[in-house]
Formats: sequence, C-alpha cells, structure tokens
Amino acid sequence: MAKRKLLLTFPNNLIDQPITYHLVKDYDLELNILRARVTPKEEGRLIVELKGKKEKLKLGEEFLKGLGVKVEPLALDVAFFEDRCTQCTACSGVCRSGAITVDRKKMKIVFEKDKCIACELCVTMCPFRAVEITF
Ligand code: SF4
Ligand code: SF4
Repeated sequence: MAKRKLLLTFPNNLIDQPITYHLVKDYDLELNILRARVTPKEEGRLIVELKGKKEKLKLGEEFLKGLGVKVEPLALDVAFFEDRCTQCTACSGVCRSGAITVDRKKMKIVFEKDKCIACELCVTMCPFRAVEITF
C-alpha cells in the first residue's frame, strides 16, 4: 500500500463534480481529506491523503490532471513561531487562504492553522523564519 499527500486545486467548473467519489470507486483508493477550502465562484483547494496500490495512485493522479485539477505533492506542515515574529505583516499579504491575518486592534499577526493549505508563500516571505515548514 502506497501513500501520497497532495494539494489539489480545482477550477470553479469542477467544484461540484463527484471527483473524490471516482477516486475511491474507479481507482480503489482510500481518501482522507485533511483540509478543504472552497472560495465561492473561484476555486477549491483540498489537501488529501491518498492510499492505495502504487499503479492505482498514479492512474488516479492522471485522472485528476486530465480533468484540469492541479495536483501538487505535499509532504509538509507549517508552524508559526510568535517569539520570532516582528509583526511586520509582510506574510499576511501573500496568504490567500486566510490562515494569516492581522488583528488590527492589537496590530498582531493571527495564524489559524486549520485554514493553512501549506502553500509555503509566507515561509518564503518571512525574513525572520517565524513561519517554517515542520515536516
Ligand atoms: S503556508 Fe503560509 S501563506 Fe500558505 S496558506 Fe499557510 S499560512 Fe497562508
Ligand atoms: S513576515 Fe514573518 S515577521 Fe513578518 S509578520 Fe509574518 S511571520 Fe511575522
């Protein structure tokens, strides 16, 4: 049994399609949705863990790509280290998922891990390594 953790980005026209059902039924894969974010009228993003036979995983990924789903491997998690953060707010401008926001009253960064889709944009942006990949 092989395992793959993937970030799937669905274009707007595929959001309502039963794609995950086909992965399970047609490719005999176990699917665990770790995070899901859907922006109405824009796109959907899922972080999923797929388990199954190696060749079936490959076919499942090809099926997704053929439909127009962007498939990116994911083997990481993101952590916020408040003690290193200077509250410069640079990262909040690049975080599209809403996981990093600024509390304007306190002028403080707020990191909501459950919204993070591990795109790594903030990691690249932060000069103080206050956000890091942890695995
Ligand atoms: S990795 Fe950073 S920029 Fe990307 S979603 Fe998570 S918090 Fe936002
Ligand atoms: S870029 Fe780094 S230092 Fe600046 S607010 Fe974000 S986490 Fe803090």
